[in-house]
Amino acid sequence: MSIADNIKSLKKETVPIKVTLIAVSKTKPAEEVQEAYDAGQRLFGENMVQELVEKYEQLPKDIQWHLIGHLQSNKVKYIAPFISMIQSVDSLKLLQEINKHALKSNRVIDCLLQIYIADEETKFGLGFDEAIELLRSHEFAALKNIRIRGLMAIATNTDNEKQLKDEYYELKIFFDGIKQSFFRKDDNFNTLSMGMSADYKLAIEQGSNMVRLGSTIFGQRVIKHWKNN
Ligand SMILES: *Cc1c(COP(=O)(O)O)cnc(C)c1O
Repeated sequence: MSIADNIKSLKKETVPIKVTLIAVSKTKPAEEVQEAYDAGQRLFGENMVQELVEKYEQLPKDIQWHLIGHLQSNKVKYIAPFISMIQSVDSLKLLQEINKHALKSNRVIDCLLQIYIADEETKFGLGFDEAIELLRSHEFAALKNIRIRGLMAIATNTDNEKQLKDEYYELKIFFDGIKQSFFRKDDNFNTLSMGMSADYKLAIEQGSNMVRLGSTIFGQRVIKHWKNN
């Protein structure tokens, strides 16, 4: 099936209207992003800053770009002028850096806190306690050019459905608690980004309202990293 067909069938069959679909275009050439764009897709996710910036420059300006990969503080400046959402915020220090560059660009940048839920040592993210500590801090309260829109997580890379379900369930409970404790009056805190190609149906069942799909839309990725940056 073509990229356009894949997007259409996802929207028709498995991704409900209330769930936002992020097309993860990492490693894929700009022509393929354009194909998805021509099929009506406007939200795209990338995990490398340099690749993201190059695609931003080449492609239509009404694309909303989401950064979904680990972000180093010294690279924030390259994306701050245009990024639509940074889903991978995993420290207060990074959030402060994003705030600083957002201010310079005269913007408020939407962010998700990335929460560590996987049973693996390689995944980035804040632990539940660390996220709470961050949200309670005076330093966080002082940041006026970022807006926390919700939480993001990557589950364990496993076929074990019970484990995936448990991880996503736990994150949904945590999300509801954070909403209640810190964002009760803030309608902007409304995004729970969980689910990738292998497990998005399960994630949606557990309360996800944003899924990040790469291979389901664009086919398998041949190379893992398009370029090192
Ligand atoms: C690559 C990636 C995805 C998409 O993965 P697929 O399995 O191709 O759907 C989603 N989220 C993050 C954070 C990624 O790095």
